[in-house]
Amino acid sequence: MNKVTIFLLLTFFFYTLFSLSQGFVNNPVLGTQEVAVVPFDYLQDGNEQSLTDIDNGFFTSSFSIKSFIEEISYGKASLNGIVYPYRTNQPPLFGTGYTNCYPLDQDIVNQPDVDYSIIDGIVLLVHSNTTGCGAGVSSFEKLPFTTIDGDFNFRRSGFRTSFYFPHDFSKITSSTVAHEIIHSFGVPYHSNAYIKSNGQWTLQGYGNLFDIMGLRSQASHPCSLVKQQKGWLTDNEIENVSTTGTYRIHALEKTLPGQTQSIVIDLPNDLDIQPNDPTIFSKLYLEYRGLTGFDSRTNRNVPLSDGTMHTIQDPHGLLIIGADCQTNNDYCVPVLVDTHPEPMGNIGTNYEPHEASDAQLNLDETYFVGNNSISIEVVNVVEGDYIDVFIDFSTLSTNENSELGQLNIYPNPASDKVTIANPLNTSLEEISIYDLSGKKIKTITREAFDSSLSQISVDVSDMTNGTYLIQINSKEHSTTKKLVISQ
Ligand SMILES: [Zn+2]
Repeated sequence: MNKVTIFLLLTFFFYTLFSLSQGFVNNPVLGTQEVAVVPFDYLQDGNEQSLTDIDNGFFTSSFSIKSFIEEISYGKASLNGIVYPYRTNQPPLFGTGYTNCYPLDQDIVNQPDVDYSIIDGIVLLVHSNTTGCGAGVSSFEKLPFTTIDGDFNFRRSGFRTSFYFPHDFSKITSSTVAHEIIHSFGVPYHSNAYIKSNGQWTLQGYGNLFDIMGLRSQASHPCSLVKQQKGWLTDNEIENVSTTGTYRIHALEKTLPGQTQSIVIDLPNDLDIQPNDPTIFSKLYLEYRGLTGFDSRTNRNVPLSDGTMHTIQDPHGLLIIGADCQTNNDYCVPVLVDTHPEPMGNIGTNYEPHEASDAQLNLDETYFVGNNSISIEVVNVVEGDYIDVFIDFSTLSTNENSELGQLNIYPNPASDKVTIANPLNTSLEEISIYDLSGKKIKTITREAFDSSLSQISVDVSDMTNGTYLIQINSKEHSTTKKLVISQ
């Protein structure tokens, strides 16, 4: 197994029974969080990370957790605190699970040098070689503790040596620590993704590669839904859109108060991409990931199914995040939608199950929102700065069923031929291409494609440059997609 796989398998999450009644939406902004960083040394093997390095990693270096939190919150949250000396002569850790991998609460509330009355959070660093323990754990808010200084509420996070060390904090943030600290700010979920595997949309828990609360291999900012829930993006930066027009979205990574950094579309009809799971979207969040700031130096290696790593070159563009506000009563959970659901050409099927790496919508590409007459097209990009998006609320209505919804057209734009991928081998009757005035340009009948139903090739070399609509009919349904010809 490669390192990333091991990391994913070992990362586990400590779900507290803390009441959700406080709500996680519009939680205020957090300000400066006072934290006590307390290292516990179970080995005393001389390989302990130095207290100076720990201090750099948390508070002082350019890639400290403090710097990271300040950037992603646009200066609305920060960390302050002290790194304490190692606790030694601890009873040995054993086994798995929180109580066997991390110091017990009775040990963390009796440290004479820690002033529990002033802290918002305690961070436990565990230097041990216990096997079967996760990378990090966190409470999802402040928890009540009875300490030697009295009764106080504070956040509790823990990390194991191998996952925060070694790190060069002049170049990289410990993403495990950053992830868990955001959990402790009251984010009780992960950024998931819908990917298409073997022709089926599958909800991949933890699967948003652009998000620190997801796989975080391509960028580390949390998505705009999380930022809205934390109060880091406000109504000044989030624009609700319900009419056709062109809208500008500024890079999520930049601090731009008053500029639109996320667009929210309240869907007239809920979007159920995969009826076989409970996830349903009532809103879409559109955000431009420009990969600036902390995101610009993120490790962009993506694990392939054969165990090798694939490096993605500068992945950025419009992300479409579905908000599942139904599965949980108290908060909406973000799910990245892969706008390129077919495996990438030269990588082929090995790219699964992580093909959401190409989830972003790029210049001149259009995403059709299923079950709604809405389309989203990227019409202009100023790299790293902003993106202009044409949102059409009157897109030619499509009678999509789940089978026709699996159809995909590529390349688009096309020059000499276009391929219609039909992974479920759905029986089709006819394919027609119309220009934007509604004039039929071309018809392909089933005799021409029945023998190659899974990959239907259409000759478009005789067509002139422009935008067309390609209508695909089965016996009972039809779907219409946009096709751009660029000779
Ligand atoms: Zn987590």
